[in-house]
Amino acid sequence: MIALDLRSLTLMAFMTSVAMGFVLLMLRRHYPGSIRGMWLWGLAPLVAASSTIFYGLEQVFHPLVILVFGNGLLMSGCALFYFGTRRFHGLRSGWRPWAAVGVLLLLWQVFFFVVHPDYRLRLSAFAGTLAVVLLVHIRLLLQHRGCGFAARFTAGVLTVQALVLLVRAVSTFWLDTPTSYRFTPSPVQSVYVATYSFSVLLVSVGVLLMASERLRSEFEHLANHDSLTGALARRVVLQDSTLEFGRWQRFEHGFALLMVDVDHFKRINDGHGHAAGDRVLARVVDALGQALRNIDRLGRYGGEEFLVLLPETGAGEARMVAERMRQAVAALPATDKVPACTVSVGVACVRHGDTSLAAVLARADAALYQAKRLGRDRVAVATEA
Ligand code: GH3
Ligand code: MG
Ligand code: MG
Repeated sequence: MIALDLRSLTLMAFMTSVAMGFVLLMLRRHYPGSIRGMWLWGLAPLVAASSTIFYGLEQVFHPLVILVFGNGLLMSGCALFYFGTRRFHGLRSGWRPWAAVGVLLLLWQVFFFVVHPDYRLRLSAFAGTLAVVLLVHIRLLLQHRGCGFAARFTAGVLTVQALVLLVRAVSTFWLDTPTSYRFTPSPVQSVYVATYSFSVLLVSVGVLLMASERLRSEFEHLANHDSLTGALARRVVLQDSTLEFGRWQRFEHGFALLMVDVDHFKRINDGHGHAAGDRVLARVVDALGQALRNIDRLGRYGGEEFLVLLPETGAGEARMVAERMRQAVAALPATDKVPACTVSVGVACVRHGDTSLAAVLARADAALYQAKRLGRDRVAVATEA
């Protein structure tokens, strides 16, 4: 077994932590404010690194000072990292119970240093508590909605670290004596300190990946959705409809398109103001969305006009969906801020002889025109050839 020098390993842990702390704090400025918690992730390794200053300068500080500050700072670093992840997920910190655990742990350390000196009882309580913090952190990472590769990677690194801590907490009763101390050479102690450096490095990479994943999905959402109403962008709903048209040509899976237009919207704008008009549009999209099934796609086609794609749907069913949407909008009550409104819907199904999506769109548009002509607040289905 290579005898790894514990003081060098501790110095390496210090340097890794400082470097990763600065990297995280610097990179934080390149992310938008919507990605939260990065400053805590950056602060955590710096706080943990400052603990090694106490451990390293044993000639300078009184052993009790080293014990309290070294252990206190290391534990705070672990807790801050966990709080960073809570922040990232928009959860409030809830630091008080952790502070209480920290104080109890330090009292335990002091008791088994001053009153009844026993290194093993100090180490096992310390490593065990850190492992618990990591386990809570792992649970948070894995349980959260949208847990992707980066969160699983981070949780994986923390799991290895937690296992090493637990092994250390138990093995101390076989490997150490009451008078051992942190730099008493032992392979297990070397693995313990070396894993720490590695996990700081890998976990920092993990949270950076988490932030990048979040950023990418925010951009994707911005690119694919209309910012006012949250409906799909015109490009996306047209793309999906074109794909559906391809499936029709290949497999003859029929589909329907609905063209939805708000009635007399200009009057709403003129009578209540443009801002009220905007609120109407957002509310209409909510109501339309609730009337749809989860395979359907709703996009903003332009202005106050929306396009709905109903895959695998024939004329009868499409008319029912359109009618449900019309009723959902008509049932919205007027409030101080948003006037009531109605929509007209044109329905068209793909049929033999259609050579492109444009043909279906044109029929849906003609049906919408017919619904408007017949008095609005109604559904019209394009006639079969
Ligand atoms: P019809 O019943 O025949 O559809 O009448 P309309 O007044 O709804 O028809 P028209 O298409 O002439 O008017 C649409 C208006 O929608 C014109 C435009 O100023 C307004 N509009 C387009 N986009 C927006 C928007 O994002 N917000 C608001 N508030 N108004 C918009
Ligand atoms: Mg209109
Ligand atoms: Mg219009």
